[in-house]
Amino acid sequence: MTASAPAAAVLPVQRSDDLKTALRGDVLTFRGNPFLQPVDDCISFERDALVVMEEGRIVARGAARELLPTLEAGVEVAHYPDHLILPGFIDCHVHYPQTEMIAAFGEQLIDWLNRYTFVAEQGFADPEHAREVVKVFLAEQLRNGVTSSCVFGTVHAGAVDALFEEAACLDLRIMAGKVCMDRHAPEALLDTPLRAYEESRALIERWHGRGRAEYVITPRFAPTSSHGQLEMLGALAAEFPDVLIQSHVSENLDEVAWVAQLFPACQDYTRVYERYGLLRPRAIYGHGIHLSEDELAAFHASGASLAHCPTSNFFLGSGCLNARRVCRAERPVKLGLGTDIGAGTSFSMLQTMNEAYKAAQFHGQPLTAAQAFYLATRGGAEALGIAQRVGSVEVGMEADLAVLDLRSTPLLDYRMRYVRDLDETLFVQMMLGDDRAIAATYVAGKAAHAR
Ligand SMILES: [Zn+2]
Repeated sequence: MTASAPAAAVLPVQRSDDLKTALRGDVLTFRGNPFLQPVDDCISFERDALVVMEEGRIVARGAARELLPTLEAGVEVAHYPDHLILPGFIDCHVHYPQTEMIAAFGEQLIDWLNRYTFVAEQGFADPEHAREVVKVFLAEQLRNGVTSSCVFGTVHAGAVDALFEEAACLDLRIMAGKVCMDRHAPEALLDTPLRAYEESRALIERWHGRGRAEYVITPRFAPTSSHGQLEMLGALAAEFPDVLIQSHVSENLDEVAWVAQLFPACQDYTRVYERYGLLRPRAIYGHGIHLSEDELAAFHASGASLAHCPTSNFFLGSGCLNARRVCRAERPVKLGLGTDIGAGTSFSMLQTMNEAYKAAQFHGQPLTAAQAFYLATRGGAEALGIAQRVGSVEVGMEADLAVLDLRSTPLLDYRMRYVRDLDETLFVQMMLGDDRAIAATYVAGKAAHAR
């Protein structure tokens, strides 16, 4: 182990075998935040490196010519010339049950929820249906190099069990929760304050900290939870101070106006969550497009995070997040990227970076390639409070990796001839790359996808 091994306690990774293996190629990872520090201080790029993995962790990383002679005979080395070895991508906000209704035409948030989402989610009362969708969902994530995600289920506890069970079979670091809502949705999708509390609590006891699973307390968003339910979920959050919380905030202007009507005593949307004890470190909120400066300051002060979901924001016409404003050095808010399937239109984090760049362009504050790749890896890990475990290619980290083929399509192959440096390489990949660019995905040191 080297000095870069994280000091914090880590959950045990359960593995069926403990074979040592290695990947060889160019390695890119982040050691700092390129929104706050000069890029050269936070990016780590090493040509022809070796990443050695054992028992689900990275046990060595360095120049291939130095490390290769130290490997025991028989250690398998997968060589990826002309590829980039990255931390596995982190999807900070995604709804697995919406996989079946991705790309549903023509509505904005509230109508889209009523017309498509709330119809599809009723099918998840059947755990077998849930399991079928989970399998498609996880396979898509792995095809796209996503190795950790923070996932919404439906109101049904069994649909969350199905996700945790399948993720455990793959040894994925997964964070997920049962959606809680007791109003403003079809009867079949409503729980009550007490049921939301009891079912969430039982799921915490069943899954939180088991293998690589973590539970997430999940009120859908303020309009679908009564005061009583938000109070119960705040009490649950207080009982389990290390458990993640996820929801939505300030996605769409009609939604913001509706929240103001429903919670007249609260100064703004953010203060609704704050009032119930749901704004704290490891609480992550999707979108936040229309947050005021004052609300962003509240996010910063509380340690809560935002998930930027640009493909979804464009799809539903919600607006464009100004990521650089969110991350501003005077009061930085922790930010990750989310696909927000099924309002989001792609499982690809490269395509999500592409759209994040375009959203920022509307504000005249374009994201750099380094900032975008940071958000999709270490930034997401920081936003979810898992950066001591995943999100970097360093000794001691869990061995979750994505291998990017830099010439995955005829156009990329051609375009790469004219690329001058690393920065341009990364930018071209995030604009033109998609699932085809993911040559392989490694989960806890094991190949989980190979193209
Ligand atoms: Zn969402």
